[in-house]
Amino acid sequence: MMLSGKAKLAGVMGWPVSHSRSPRLHGYWLAQYGIDGAYVPLAVAPENLKDALAALPKIGFRGCNLTIPHKEAALDYVNTIDETARVVGAINTVVVDDAGALRGSNTDIEGFAQNIRSTGHMLDASHPALVIGAGGAARAVIAALKSLGFTRAAIVNRTPERAKALAKDLAPLALTLDVHAWDRRSDLVKDASLVVNTTSLGMNGAPPLALDLAAARDDALVTDIVYAPLETPLLQAARARGLACVDGLGMLLHQARPGFRAWFGVDPEVTPALRAHVLKD
Ligand code: NAP
Repeated sequence: MMLSGKAKLAGVMGWPVSHSRSPRLHGYWLAQYGIDGAYVPLAVAPENLKDALAALPKIGFRGCNLTIPHKEAALDYVNTIDETARVVGAINTVVVDDAGALRGSNTDIEGFAQNIRSTGHMLDASHPALVIGAGGAARAVIAALKSLGFTRAAIVNRTPERAKALAKDLAPLALTLDVHAWDRRSDLVKDASLVVNTTSLGMNGAPPLALDLAAARDDALVTDIVYAPLETPLLQAARARGLACVDGLGMLLHQARPGFRAWFGVDPEVTPALRAHVLKD
């Protein structure tokens, strides 16, 4: 579709931004729905983030996504922050409202929850979730557990202080978060109805996550938020053990929906064709 003078504009701010799959993802939806709009990569250095965000309403942008390293710093530069995003301590989506104010939210939370729901798997949330890792993504994953019905999660991280800090920061979510030693992770598997890898282990170029799934509950669901490769060693092991699995690409696709809806006025669908298109990159 050709852009007109009325084209709706959004983009993704990152530094660097060239790795981002968001332009490809939103570009697919813009073409699919025949929308007069554009979604562009915005290479914004950290020292320019404040000015770049402030410029959005002045140059007619409807908002943007934020990627590394801006998700935390941007909290200081928007006018309102969604309550859960404030607790999580990061935003990835900014919407310019009708008055020109910047509204920040964290759609990784809903993206994770939607990806899990998309499996149709009946989670037994009376058992805890096991979250491996305590980085930025782990915070969004833990915030999503509540909407999946969990009241309790076990957390393990190589650096225990980071897991303890996360549990303290996320206390307002009113979930019981039990921090355990890193080397206990395989023992914790047996009680978990959801096992989530939020570390970068298993990514292309990184070592695999060593986790013994032998004692896992038969009804456990295993997910890896790493999506390159799509089938991580953890997911391969889970499939070999006969467990239900879901890869991390769906989280990336679902997190993009609220922004697209706000900027371009269509609630876009996550389809197998979209997955294939993003994976072709
Ligand atoms: P981050 O804040 O840097 O956290 C990295 C995590 O990985 C920490 O828990 C870190 O442990 C752990 N880790 C790294 N190397 C390790 C090793 N050798 N042994 C044990 N643990 C190790 O990164 P993030 O933003 O949370 O992202 C984590 C992963 O999630 C990345 O692969 C990212 O691409 C992916 N992600 C996916 C989505 C999606 O939409 N699917 C969204 C966001 C992120 P320490 O604290 O001990 O360093």
